Amino acid sequence: MWGDVCRFLEQSVIRYKLKTWIEPLKCLSITPDDDGLTVRLEAPNVFSRDWVKDQSLVEPIEGAFNSITGKQCKVELCISSRAEPTDRTTPHHPPFALEEAPADILRAEPPKGVLLSVGEQRTGSPALSGKYVFDNFVVGASNQFAHASAVAVAERPAEQYNPLFIYSSSGLGKTHLLHAIGNRCLERDPKTHILYIPAEYFINDVVESIRRNQMNAFRNRFRNSLDVLLIDDIQSIAGKKSTEDEFFHTFNALYSAKRQVVLTSDSPPSEIEGLAERIRTRFEWGLVTEISIPEIETRIAILKSKAESDDIYLPNEVATFIATHIKSDVRKLEGILAKLQLQSTLTGAEITLDSAKQEFRNMVPEESSALTVETILNAVVQHFNVRIADLKSSTRKKKITLPRHIAIFLIRKYTGLPLEKLGSYFGGRDHSTVTHALNKIQQEIEIDSGIKKSVEAIQNRL
Ligand code: ADP
Ligand code: MG
Repeated sequence: MWGDVCRFLEQSVIRYKLKTWIEPLKCLSITPDDDGLTVRLEAPNVFSRDWVKDQSLVEPIEGAFNSITGKQCKVELCISSRAEPTDRTTPHHPPFALEEAPADILRAEPPKGVLLSVGEQRTGSPALSGKYVFDNFVVGASNQFAHASAVAVAERPAEQYNPLFIYSSSGLGKTHLLHAIGNRCLERDPKTHILYIPAEYFINDVVESIRRNQMNAFRNRFRNSLDVLLIDDIQSIAGKKSTEDEFFHTFNALYSAKRQVVLTSDSPPSEIEGLAERIRTRFEWGLVTEISIPEIETRIAILKSKAESDDIYLPNEVATFIATHIKSDVRKLEGILAKLQLQSTLTGAEITLDSAKQEFRNMVPEESSALTVETILNAVVQHFNVRIADLKSSTRKKKITLPRHIAIFLIRKYTGLPLEKLGSYFGGRDHSTVTHALNKIQQEIEIDSGIKKSVEAIQNRL
């Protein structure tokens, strides 16, 4: 069950926290009592235990147990009896933001991404996960371009697309592709020096190196010894001046030495707020590619492929049912599958359409997700082949105003967002402009069959 809880937490806890702090906990016992269940978790040492508490990780763990078991769960944290005696002298650390992390704490638990995937220690490193490879990445229209570029980069680093920049909303496979590139490179040539690093670690490393006056070592590590640098969620460096500077120089050094850089982000370079212009332009030097929301066929294929690799019997009708109801996040698809599997293990009954429906009834509404603004915007821009930024801009070109009006119409229809909010979403347009757009499109749908068709096509995507 602990494994399932960890998988469940992938939906809500940042991956590096999960890997570094939660996964190393050991589940000692789960005991039913009057109020529900008591779960005893063992931390490897005092330091880890305090860290888990300080970062408020206990609540999400309890939440995950609650959701999976349907019972009220209370987590008790204890310490391994084998913990090093020196651990007990480790001081209690208050929570702090990443940027302010005292150097000694960073030293106490080195970011695995940095130390373990460079040089000799790269193979078998926890940073590069063998779980994510091209073989288990399901390709469909929504991701085929990103997938093909990733394969091309992995086969011939620094030859075609440098940097490769992949963006999408969360849970659509960016991290998966990034690991797959690393794994394929190592497969081709085990001597390749690869570094996979979530941007948060990169930021940490810059902060720590500056504090400890070790910028030379930092530069050496990033600029001189790598063949392939994979940075995940690069958008988070935006506005962090010293990290941006270091990234800039690292990028230039690697680029001019013909080394491959691959970046992922939650939005395209042009929409990352607060990002220094010289960095934005570099992001766009190579290939910028998007993963969009997978179509229903791809969602079904992903479910079936996960079920197969986890040895779960998943009837077609159930796969179709789940894929029809969860549209915009593959991680959520996996989450449901994990829950159904657990249920079926606990009860000994097979997964059926009824059990799946029951699961959906138990879900919080937000999860079973009525459509989000983001999903609708994505569908509209894909249909018209324009950019989200254009819709939000003030341009009045016909090519943009029609998609904009349709987006406003559909968002209002499916989310019921108040007019003011809707307006502010579209570059601060006021209430009356929004009303005008709504009226206009409603009339046009009735008289113009082309527009009607477009709206229908977009609705089908949703
Ligand atoms: P992101 O980094 O974009 O937030 P992830 O790469 O972490 O998303 O993907 C979330 C989960 O969904 C992972 O477990 C990943 O393996 C799975 N996933 C996403 N897209 C695909 C796909 N096309 N085929 C198979 N699994 C996928
Ligand atoms: Mg990711």
